[in-house]
Amino acid sequence: MAHAIKFHPGMALLEQYVEGTLTADVALAIAAHVDLCPHCQRLSHDISVDMAAQLEKQPVKTDNDDWGSMLAAITAEPQESKPRKAAPVTLQNVVVNGREFTVPRALQRLAGNHGKWLHLGGIATAKLPAGAEHHVSLLYIGKGTEVPLHTHLGLEMTLVLSGKIVDENGEYCAGDLLINSPDDTHTPRTLANEDCLCLSVLSAPLQFKKGLTRLLNPLQQFFY
Ligand SMILES: [Zn+2]
Repeated sequence: MAHAIKFHPGMALLEQYVEGTLTADVALAIAAHVDLCPHCQRLSHDISVDMAAQLEKQPVKTDNDDWGSMLAAITAEPQESKPRKAAPVTLQNVVVNGREFTVPRALQRLAGNHGKWLHLGGIATAKLPAGAEHHVSLLYIGKGTEVPLHTHLGLEMTLVLSGKIVDENGEYCAGDLLINSPDDTHTPRTLANEDCLCLSVLSAPLQFKKGLTRLLNPLQQFFY
């Protein structure tokens, strides 16, 4: 990737990701980020090596050899179940607004089964058939389009898959992961010359701050 990814999930989330303690939907966003981010690939590898070492130090509270060898097998090569240098596969592309996007490996299966694209202004969204706890969707933002100012009733994770988003806090390119909490308010937009595809994981509907609530209500429904 030509540019450096600047916005990462951070150690706490990566550790939970490797431990497998995240909800499936949040783990999906982290997995897709890790697919795109060599830095976090190295970190999560290091975390899993550390965890395996920790587990090995713990006394096995049984003298059953089968159990011991099973544990050893589980902890020996934690990366083997998700090889990072996968053989080339036929990539599932996502087509929206006449544009074709390739999505990270972690999203391939879901992206092949996305819901109908719903268009509103320069924005389009398609639901992904992912877990029940969050709303997971592909979010397409056309060139020179602004998503109205909003806060978050819950967690909002946006992973840029292609193109670029700009908001009050910075500029986000492919691979960058934006995590917004209920305290954050922002107005993400695209630049005039480039559209953008994102993965969006929402734990609650967005709350729009500007304009007539009555008019924005449909937009809130649209995003969730
Ligand atoms: Zn990263």
